[in-house]
Amino acid sequence: MRKAPRLSTPIEYLKGIGPRRAEVLAKDLNITTFRDLLLLFPRRYIDRRQITPLRQVQAEGEYVQVRGRLQSLQYQRGRQRSWLVGLLEDKTGTLPLVWFQGHAQIRKMLQVGQEYLAFGRVSYYRRRPTLPHPEMTLITGPETTEHLRIVPIYPSSEKLRKMRLGPRQLHQAVMRVWEQVRDEIDENLPDYVRRSLRLVGRREALRMIHQPATMEEIDIAKQRLKFEELFFFQWQLAATRTQRRQQREGIIFSKEKINAPGSFTHDFIKRHLPFELTGAQRRVLREIWQDLASGTWMNRLLQGDVGSGKTVVALITMLAAIDNGYQAVMMAPTEILATQHFQTLSRMLFGLPIRIELLTGATPARKKQELYRDIESGRIHIVVGTHALIQEGVRFQRLGLAVIDEQHRFGVAQRARLWQQYTPRPHVLVMTATPIPRTLSMTLYGDLDVSVIDEMPPGRKPIRTHVITERHLPQLWEFIRRKIAEGRQAYVVYPIIEESEKLDYRNLMEGYERIQSLFPEPDYRTAMLHGRMRPAEKDAVMERFARGEVHILVSTTVIEVGVDVPNATIMAVINAERFGLSQLHQLRGRVGRGDEQSYCFLVRGPKVSAEARTRLRALAETNDGFRLAEVDLKLRGPGEITGTRQSGNILFRIADPIEDVRLMELARQTAETILSEDPDLQHPRHQVLVRYLEQERANMGWAQVS
Ligand code: ADP
Ligand code: MG
Repeated sequence: MRKAPRLSTPIEYLKGIGPRRAEVLAKDLNITTFRDLLLLFPRRYIDRRQITPLRQVQAEGEYVQVRGRLQSLQYQRGRQRSWLVGLLEDKTGTLPLVWFQGHAQIRKMLQVGQEYLAFGRVSYYRRRPTLPHPEMTLITGPETTEHLRIVPIYPSSEKLRKMRLGPRQLHQAVMRVWEQVRDEIDENLPDYVRRSLRLVGRREALRMIHQPATMEEIDIAKQRLKFEELFFFQWQLAATRTQRRQQREGIIFSKEKINAPGSFTHDFIKRHLPFELTGAQRRVLREIWQDLASGTWMNRLLQGDVGSGKTVVALITMLAAIDNGYQAVMMAPTEILATQHFQTLSRMLFGLPIRIELLTGATPARKKQELYRDIESGRIHIVVGTHALIQEGVRFQRLGLAVIDEQHRFGVAQRARLWQQYTPRPHVLVMTATPIPRTLSMTLYGDLDVSVIDEMPPGRKPIRTHVITERHLPQLWEFIRRKIAEGRQAYVVYPIIEESEKLDYRNLMEGYERIQSLFPEPDYRTAMLHGRMRPAEKDAVMERFARGEVHILVSTTVIEVGVDVPNATIMAVINAERFGLSQLHQLRGRVGRGDEQSYCFLVRGPKVSAEARTRLRALAETNDGFRLAEVDLKLRGPGEITGTRQSGNILFRIADPIEDVRLMELARQTAETILSEDPDLQHPRHQVLVRYLEQERANMGWAQVS
């Protein structure tokens, strides 16, 4: 028999909450039931077992507990209003306590001459530390020491504080819930898992997190609750993956056809490829082929730093599709990038009887009609393009593979529109140059399998990066002049951001004029590239630069992704402090693509925030995109980077996907082991999971991130 689940009681029925507060709790903290409140974890703790001598009260904003005799309690008058000041005294000195409101009550409660514990947050007034609105406890005897405990501080909001649901009242509410539901809290991890990982029981952990007796208990509780959270998160992902493998039938690309001499794939690798594949490229291809031959649908994320050679991997995968009688499509986020992919692929495929076409918004209508026709009849093998590919009219005869480059520019739904309409479902390969630590990417792209190219093609000289100030610009121009004399080319990039677009464009124009006057024709040729130009104009400029006809390309971030001109060896970024870290890394990736030594100059303005300084320094210190991604994650948090941050949508309550990577990995292994050994959870030792999963089904919204 099941008890009435008090855990799912709406929070408004908790004593002291009611409908009005419940509404704000739902909105601000996502709390609607008793269960939710119980899973509201303290942000931090204050050790109120300590008493700070009054003289040592200093750090602004810090919570302190002090003890002393109330020496006086008086009004002080300001121009607008008056406030109440109590002076507390101990052996070491005095400290003013201040009240701006509720004077009558305070005066009734406090008595001059008595001894009190005061607890509050230090704030400076007239250069002196004070405690505004402290919590006061009269010391009546040794039993007062029961107040000397560890106090959890819960996240609250401005609105909730105004409704008298600040951190302290939230703690009381949590404790009220705890008293009512503690018996209902069942274990949800198998015993043997818990024992082998030395995790405390669930009920015990919840008690410890909300009301720790020692600081150690907090750590013990956190370990358990984090693991639990990560485990069920990973469980969900693993289950989704398993389901996909079982239910979604994929086209089978036969390995024999791929490997046979005479096949496009085989011949291309053996005869056409102008270089040897790196070990990482070969490993990734093996992972992909495994998928393609398996009979289940491939949905794979291919991660690799800029310049790591993703394009070739994509091309070889497309050849595998063609060898099996299918067509392939590659979608890129911008006109320039699509065009460049098209050119690169065409060049590499030269001499092979494969028809490849480009389809973008700029394709003339008549040509489009022709392409639509030939795509539908299967005469075209590979189509490269932009959004135009997901417009009406594009209908493949036999689409076997969709490659999507730079996925962050496309929404999830948009991506899906490329392949959704086809049965059987074409395999999907998503390429991204945004290096996300592997564990995190597995977390955030739950439904995608992940392959990583973690090795650069050989012979690359690491790019030398220097952070310089505007005062050094003359030397920079001189350096560029010298390199042009040696036959090289340079990019100079200006920031354009939406908020200050007008001003930014003016800076770009002025900068361009200055560079033109510093590098005058006919000795030098310069050109400009920006987002307000028409696609055809942009292409023409890019083309001239790629052919070496332009020495200096003054540009905005439109060149950020993918563009490949190996002879360009200098990247100068003006006002580099205004760019994000990954953006700068992408920009830098435009150079260092050939055998020559390349340089990146990050030119910063006179006033730069500490965070921007950290960013620039990190770039100067390393070329490793994964390292930088970690720095970026620390500075900005995961949501900002992946675009998954949404208000009110919390992925984790207590675990931190970056700090807790080790635990995340452990959780993943545990979940996958259980799912592979006992997929239907038949074993008695897994009954706790069955019960919990059933009970929590309604609460598990997470795995829908990707
Ligand atoms: P990205 O991963 O940034 O898309 P690309 O695929 O554009 O990188 O490759 C960058 C450059 O490196 C290209 O010029 C490409 O031809 C070259 N390249 C790719 N793989 C190798 C390799 N194994 N050996 C040498 N050069 C390679
Ligand atoms: Mg690329």
